Amino acid sequence: MGDLSKLEPHLFAEQLQSLGLRRAAFIYTEQSGLECSHPDLRGLGQSLLGNTRDYDRHQAVFLEVGEQTGVLLGAFLHRTRRGQGIGGVRLWPYASLADFLSDGLRLSKGMGRKNALAGLWWGGGKGVIARPPGQRHDDPMYRAQLFQDYGRFITSLRGAYVTAEDVGTTEPDMAEIHEVTRYVVCVPASVGGSGNPSPATARGVVSAMEGALDYVGLGELRGKVVAMQGVGNVGGFMLAELLARGVAKVVGADVSAAAVRAARERHPGDRVQLRVVPPGDQEILAEPCDILAPNALGGIINSETIPRLQAKIVCGAANNQLLDQHRDAALLRARSLVYVPDFVANRMGIVNCANEQYGSIPDDPVIMRHYDPAWENSVYRVTRSVLERAERAGITSTEAANALADELAEQPHPIFPDRTAQIITGLMASGWASAPAPAPVLVAAGGRR
Ligand code: NAD
Repeated sequence: MGDLSKLEPHLFAEQLQSLGLRRAAFIYTEQSGLECSHPDLRGLGQSLLGNTRDYDRHQAVFLEVGEQTGVLLGAFLHRTRRGQGIGGVRLWPYASLADFLSDGLRLSKGMGRKNALAGLWWGGGKGVIARPPGQRHDDPMYRAQLFQDYGRFITSLRGAYVTAEDVGTTEPDMAEIHEVTRYVVCVPASVGGSGNPSPATARGVVSAMEGALDYVGLGELRGKVVAMQGVGNVGGFMLAELLARGVAKVVGADVSAAAVRAARERHPGDRVQLRVVPPGDQEILAEPCDILAPNALGGIINSETIPRLQAKIVCGAANNQLLDQHRDAALLRARSLVYVPDFVANRMGIVNCANEQYGSIPDDPVIMRHYDPAWENSVYRVTRSVLERAERAGITSTEAANALADELAEQPHPIFPDRTAQIITGLMASGWASAPAPAPVLVAAGGRR
């Protein structure tokens, strides 16, 4: 069998089905190392191990071919001592299985760190769905099938992974998942959930900006200039938070005319200056400002853009802002730019929804304290302490945040220590990966109807 990781995800799904398989698992334990569910997939296991940047002894990678759609579904678990893996599910068009796997691995590792640093009793988890070719995912009927497929997949994992909203997915998608599983958060308020996490995320990022301003001795947000890439869900709410704090000006750029129009309608007046830009236009990153907030894509802080930055602080909502965590953090430090690592700044999306099962309280104090600088684990205080730790140790803020998060990730859950490891063992012992393949579904043919 050739190198499966080079296949487009839908072709890999077809290949699995042609082997009579619907599922695959790659489980890592200290005792046994990496174990693959099927001998035919050992080569793929080797390519996971070879991904030295992202693999990092991932506890589990689960793959399934969607029952109704034939789409490749993934769930990734990393460091679950603090609790079951939790993190959003991303719907994205991946060019290859290798890209699909890398994204899942990188994102679940990031979630483990974010959850630990936020003090949540949850481990690292992330879901990935390989968006099928074409625009089928825009068809509501197909989309419902796709997310119900994902929900059934999550149910089969018995709670090892709890999913949520992420890039490419919406609150109604979470409602579809919730039709067939209890292991999902960020569900709509109409079914008892916390709904759209973006207002919470925006407020948390603004708290992180305040912590960073305090650290550099620049006072408060009043009178400051903020440049923003992306005025979508989070960016839109962030505009309101910043204006309420008396910023002098927000300059924003977005590739979507609709997003810019919506933000302008909500915030008329000359303190907000927004422009529509063509994809690939990165001029906003070089805007003269106090704070640059990347609120759109990952990878935009890199060796090309860093020399052009004119901000004093970089602090935004986008995940994985640095193209290369080590090189780019070092380049930022060499320019004496203060960088608030994304998972320090954008924790509130997951904080807002992670504990939905404990019921909801107006202005829930367990959530609100994250915004309170007086609380030692608030976004503000953790931002400051990460930046101080980096300065004391002569390391980058990313290294400081990673070190702090990795220490916290080793703390066992106070009631259910290592329960996820037990769930995984139970899954494998009961033959999870050997579920019989139903009649093959060809993604190109559009799934079952
Ligand atoms: P969104 O899709 O609503 O908004 C992103 C905006 O960026 C869109 O308006 C899009 O048009 C714009 N955009 C895309 N490419 C661009 C480019 N090259 N230049 C300028 N604008 C561009 O997403 P969101 O929910 O606001 O999330 C934004 C980022 O924050 C994402 O990276 C997401 O992973 C991260 N994040 C979001 C949350 C949350 O609660 N929504 C939580 C944590 C992290």
